Amino acid sequence: MGLLVFIDTIALCLVVSSALLQRFEEAPKPDGSLSFLVIGDWGRKGAYNQSQVAFQMGVIGKQLNIDFVISTGDNFYDNGLTGIDDPAFDDSFTKIYTSSSLHKQWYSVLGNHDYRGDVEAQLSPVLRNYDKRWLCLRSFIVNAEVAEFFFVDTTPFVDKYFTEPGDHVYDWRGIHPRKKYISNLLKDVDLALRESNAKWKIVVGHHTIRSAGQHGNTAELVNQLLPILQANNIDMFINGHDHCLQHISSIESGIQFFTSGGGSKAWRGVVNKWKEEEMKLYYDGQGFMSVQLTQTEIDIVFYDVFGHVLHKWNTSKQLHRPS
Ligand SMILES: [Zn+2]
Repeated sequence: MGLLVFIDTIALCLVVSSALLQRFEEAPKPDGSLSFLVIGDWGRKGAYNQSQVAFQMGVIGKQLNIDFVISTGDNFYDNGLTGIDDPAFDDSFTKIYTSSSLHKQWYSVLGNHDYRGDVEAQLSPVLRNYDKRWLCLRSFIVNAEVAEFFFVDTTPFVDKYFTEPGDHVYDWRGIHPRKKYISNLLKDVDLALRESNAKWKIVVGHHTIRSAGQHGNTAELVNQLLPILQANNIDMFINGHDHCLQHISSIESGIQFFTSGGGSKAWRGVVNKWKEEEMKLYYDGQGFMSVQLTQTEIDIVFYDVFGHVLHKWNTSKQLHRPS
């Protein structure tokens, strides 16, 4: 009996350690198109213009008839949620993003600030049930037919949170052993990207890969995740973490790097030098980003806190690859 339980436990561990990423289906519009907003670094109980950005998201969300919202993490400042009953969930999310157009599914990843609280609370089905829009997981996939989205938990990659946590206490439950967690995640992302037949492949994470902002490039992601993204020809990487709006068009890889981290506190005043031919937008203030895509076209727009357009970018792909 004891041995059977032991064998069962080993089998369960094996299954868990090699489990593929959880998948969700998102139906596109009847014409096959898709539109959504991206917001990051937001949960401050309405302060630092969070409410104003939320209002403009509602306006643009209605105009574009969005299908969902993506959150690039740092969902609750300063230290994530204290538990499933933390009033910050209401005060920073439910009572802030009230426009009817924002009453769609939110797909959220965790940021480093979220890891300073009770991570399990943000991932909890209790919150998903409490506000049906909420879906936050560590790493997962959303298949929307015309596009496939690969959400990657980037915080555990960053060495300094482990080696120099300072006064911060991180909730690393479920991460240890860290090396194994990261190598499994990279394997799963690589496999999922390789198997994807979607016209557009979009990867979302909290931390930057390419950024001229305060945090700059995240070396761990450049070294470990970027080669996989390049090998699989992804179209774009979307992140938060730097509190700005930014578009870097990588000449080397052809990947578009978008930062949407302007959900609340911004105006840090830090902009590092970047190759002029790659830097399409750097805006130090608050705002958000919209994406509209069809089988052949993708349209990106960045907006400021007043809903004014800061930057537009578009690209197209042939319906069928030339033979
Ligand atoms: Zn962050």
